[in-house]
Amino acid sequence: MFNPLNAFLGLFSLDIGIDLGTANTLVAVRNKGIVINEPSWVAINKRTREPLAVGAEAREMVGRTPAHIVAIRPLRDGVISEFEITEAMLRYFIDKVHDQSIIPFPRPRVVIGIPSGVTEVEKRAVYDAALSAGAREVYLIEEPMAAAIGAGLPIAESRGSMVVDIGGGTTEVAIFAMGGIVISRSVRVAGDEMDDDIMAYTRGKYNLLIGERMAERIKKRIGSAHPLEEELTLSVRGRNLITGLPQEIDLSSIEIREALTSSVNIIIDTIKDALDETPPELIADLMEIGVALAGGGAQLQGLANRLADEIKMHVWVAEDSLTCVARGAARILEDYQSLHSVLVGLHRGSTHH
Ligand code: ADP
Ligand code: MG
Repeated sequence: MFNPLNAFLGLFSLDIGIDLGTANTLVAVRNKGIVINEPSWVAINKRTREPLAVGAEAREMVGRTPAHIVAIRPLRDGVISEFEITEAMLRYFIDKVHDQSIIPFPRPRVVIGIPSGVTEVEKRAVYDAALSAGAREVYLIEEPMAAAIGAGLPIAESRGSMVVDIGGGTTEVAIFAMGGIVISRSVRVAGDEMDDDIMAYTRGKYNLLIGERMAERIKKRIGSAHPLEEELTLSVRGRNLITGLPQEIDLSSIEIREALTSSVNIIIDTIKDALDETPPELIADLMEIGVALAGGGAQLQGLANRLADEIKMHVWVAEDSLTCVARGAARILEDYQSLHSVLVGLHRGSTHH
């Protein structure tokens, strides 16, 4: 597998790790860190299917566009449902990184995180999208594996370790030993679902219609999974469904915790399911090392405490949990010789190696 020519070229190469998330796309450059962190949105012209804006700029257009422009999240459910749009998004981000560098690097080598359990066809789609978006070499890694490396877990050791990555569209649970994933579980309940819960709650209890972004703001500010030392309140604006008029109400963190109960419980059950299937030796390791939380959803207040209560193990939020996958993916190229075995195989028809 080790190719001296590639190693030599590596010295002059731009190596990047990409987290193609359902909510956010992040790009980390080897030896440099995160250079791009933008929402996974693309605005397209419905008539021509031409992408008009990508990332933050596309998200700004949501709800403000004329009829022929739509802003979409091509990875919303954790799979590539819109291949061409995903490709356009990748191309935009890869070009942006390339343009940012002062040295005229050749096209980059790219490691991309993909959700675990995606099909061969979906893997192929990501791989092809990255190649045609301008990557010189493309490697795939399962997102939980990248998250674990980014969180600093000892995945290459024989000891077991565990990560729970809570993103926008999916929550992924994985238990590792000896450089591989031993058990994994994925559920389509994560940050987006929590936002939906909050919208349903204000509608059901107050007849107040709020937008997705307002719901997300409420979740981040006063959402929780465990009683807070000091409960919080937040003024929230929306439209009253009975009167049709704008209205402002105060919501408490106690109410929002109630709204989030069922989603949080599904995440807890998914984790318990995975633990149920874990061999006892590994459970013993986990009791020593604990469980790392990654992804944006990991930052829900009190979630680590709540999980610790539920599974009777130490649970902590990984440092900079939103960037674990991208940093982990970039690490692979830094340490290619010891880490390349964690990459996902693909029946590639391309020429390299
Ligand atoms: P993905 O990998 O699917 O793109 P991310 O890991 O980027 O997802 O996480 C995005 C999700 O994390 C969003 O649903 C966002 O609302 C949520 N999130 C970010 N910060 C917080 C926070 N402080 N509290 C609760 N949820 C958060
Ligand atoms: Mg993610």
